[in-house]
Amino acid sequence: MEHAESLEGFCKKLPKIELHAHLNGSIRMSTIQELWDRKADRSGDLPFLEAQKTKDFQSAFSMFSVIYQLVQGLDVIDRITREVIEDFAKENVIYVELRTTLKAYDDKTKLDYLDVVLKAMRETAALHNIEVNLLVSINRAESLENAMEAVELAVQRKDQGVVGIDLCGNPVCGKFSELRPALEKARREGFKLTLHAAEIVNYGETQEILDFSPERLGHAVFMTDDLKSQLFSKKIPVEICITSNIKSQSCDGPLGHHFGEFYRKSHPIILCTDDMGVFCTSVSQEFSIVGDTFQLGREELYDLSLSSIDCSFASEASKETFRRRMRESRTSLGLENK
Ligand SMILES: [Zn+2]
Repeated sequence: MEHAESLEGFCKKLPKIELHAHLNGSIRMSTIQELWDRKADRSGDLPFLEAQKTKDFQSAFSMFSVIYQLVQGLDVIDRITREVIEDFAKENVIYVELRTTLKAYDDKTKLDYLDVVLKAMRETAALHNIEVNLLVSINRAESLENAMEAVELAVQRKDQGVVGIDLCGNPVCGKFSELRPALEKARREGFKLTLHAAEIVNYGETQEILDFSPERLGHAVFMTDDLKSQLFSKKIPVEICITSNIKSQSCDGPLGHHFGEFYRKSHPIILCTDDMGVFCTSVSQEFSIVGDTFQLGREELYDLSLSSIDCSFASEASKETFRRRMRESRTSLGLENK
């Protein structure tokens, strides 16, 4: 069937949800540049932009340390939260689960940080017809004590938009097994869990994570056939971040990406950006990439977006709203009503 509209145009118009977006990594490039220009002790070019050219897994993490140096103070956190949500709304993302580790700045506590993010989320979501929830991240490089504290703070704001807990950070640092008590506590408190997994070859830990059965996994790149068959039989949804995996050199290109295998197996997957600022992508672009690379038709892209809703940590009522918004978009997307 011929389409008047380009694949990119269709993917932008398609209502989408985003379930794997780190607040700091989703920062606008122009905001990064502005924060850099404001810095008194800057010298030479922004190292962040330089780091964008030379990519491997560890240089991707060194970029984040540059961002953390620039993103200091709650006024900046407030600003980037609003901008990131605005950017998602502009490309017809109707629901986002943002994630962030909680930081304390000067005389401001981690709870202050959480409150600023939640307030900015609420206010911006109301302006842009988008729903936003938060996942509090546990950085695997930090201590169990820090992880426990993060869960306790999440508990204090549970009914104000915090819906889950994420395990993230440089996968060569720290161990899942050592932080597991904090994740168990989060589970007891009623939080849904999503864990970054198999970003590097670490089959032993990936096995432990599968045994733990979190509600979702992030990435799941380096898996043996045995681990994959366990994942498929457990049906744990996977947040797929193709551009992030390519730019951090976890895979050669879109064609070799495990999206293809997971999709053919009808495994629940969600297309996500991970860090849309750092990796210069958007959810729409991730849909275009799979449409192009794996020859998915428009109905298939629509179904992929629709089925992602089931994997979200939103309330059942909200999920029903997202499905309705998707159904209502079919005519303007040029799809037949069914
Ligand atoms: Zn991530």
